[in-house]
Amino acid sequence: SREEVAYFGAGPAPMPTPVLEQGARAFLNFEDSGLSLAEISHRSPTANKILADTRAALASLLEIPDSYEILFMHGGGSGEFSAVVYNMVAMWVEKRRQMAERELGDAQEEILEKVKKEVREEMRLDYIVSGSWSLKASQEAANLLEPLKDGGKVGNLVNIVTDAREWNDGKFGKIPHEDTWKLTSPKASVFTYYCDNETVDGVEFPSFPKCLEPKEEGDDRLVVADMSSNFLSRRVDVSKYAVIYGGAQKNIGITDVTLVIVRQDILAAAPSPSFLHDVGIWSPPAILNWSIIAKNNSLYNTMPIFSIWIAGQVMRSLLSTHDDAKVAGQEAVANAKAEIIYRILDSNPSVYQVVPEKSVRSRMNICFRIEDDATEKEFLQGAEGRMLQGLKGHRSVGGIRISNYNAVPMVNVQKLASYLEDFAQRKR
Ligand code: PMP
Repeated sequence: SREEVAYFGAGPAPMPTPVLEQGARAFLNFEDSGLSLAEISHRSPTANKILADTRAALASLLEIPDSYEILFMHGGGSGEFSAVVYNMVAMWVEKRRQMAERELGDAQEEILEKVKKEVREEMRLDYIVSGSWSLKASQEAANLLEPLKDGGKVGNLVNIVTDAREWNDGKFGKIPHEDTWKLTSPKASVFTYYCDNETVDGVEFPSFPKCLEPKEEGDDRLVVADMSSNFLSRRVDVSKYAVIYGGAQKNIGITDVTLVIVRQDILAAAPSPSFLHDVGIWSPPAILNWSIIAKNNSLYNTMPIFSIWIAGQVMRSLLSTHDDAKVAGQEAVANAKAEIIYRILDSNPSVYQVVPEKSVRSRMNICFRIEDDATEKEFLQGAEGRMLQGLKGHRSVGGIRISNYNAVPMVNVQKLASYLEDFAQRKR
């Protein structure tokens, strides 16, 4: 039964049982309508209300300012790797077009030539590579921008601000000191990207990077963050970001829906597709185009209303669990659960070797290794025997990974903690 299994999968991830129970009912007969929530039209008043309620719950939990839009998108976190590039580059080009217009008036040919040159010579996309997912995002950017490289004559359009592997024997597990980061100027930088929590490598930013804070008035460095695997697990000052996004399937619900929080002025700066084409770049595909999705109330095409409803229910259950109706309560629980696990791992260094450096350890994905393969196998088998599941590390790095998302109950963390203790005692 569900009660017997303690699941620590990295995503899809455990769900609160009451939400699944409500979901099972809604899947068959939503609020006694005689229809499944999977059958109703995405254009119906019911669907509209579900979108509005889910948005309101997210806005309340994260205290999202009114100057931001909340979008529901397709394509998961990976879809946003591309969407970020398409939309942000288009916006940067439009800003440059407007600047050129102010300088050159009506001289359309000159405006075009000026912007073309700036795109190829000045424009940079800054990526902080702290783990496998930010690496993938940066690779997607490089792939999409390849046609702009004019046969390799221009410099690297994707600027790797830092690659954490270079500071840690070729492996992820550290966030290099900010003094070593190579940021481009806010003016040339289309955005600065980072992944707040690296799911595969167990590395989480302890806080917003200091050097991304505005240094002077009007210094608008646009920060984009992937929060797929630590969404709603701690307080976030949304006003520091241009864009925050994440797939729902870890902390917020089931798969199929991606949440994007985007500053409205970015949506407003949508250029004409023909100008973009003249400059030699793509206009964002409609399905990834934030402005189009926003204009259509996230119903540009058929959205998975069931998944959005589930996300809303998870958020509502978070809202009702903690007194403050904000995410601070959840943050305290997440920290406490992670501490229990790390304390045991740290007390048994001869058995368990935590992968990341202490200051950047993830509260969500706790990654460690056990000396040799045979002992690791024994650990996993023993865990299975106690119905502790989903502990195998990502296939690209191996080892053990405990995912400690919001819906993992304390009682399951305690079960796992006692197994970790017992195993260590036998092996010490
Ligand atoms: N970013 C992070 C931090 C992730 O953990 C994942 C998936 N595990 C992704 C992006 C990709 O998400 P998706 O599978 O939804 O495309």
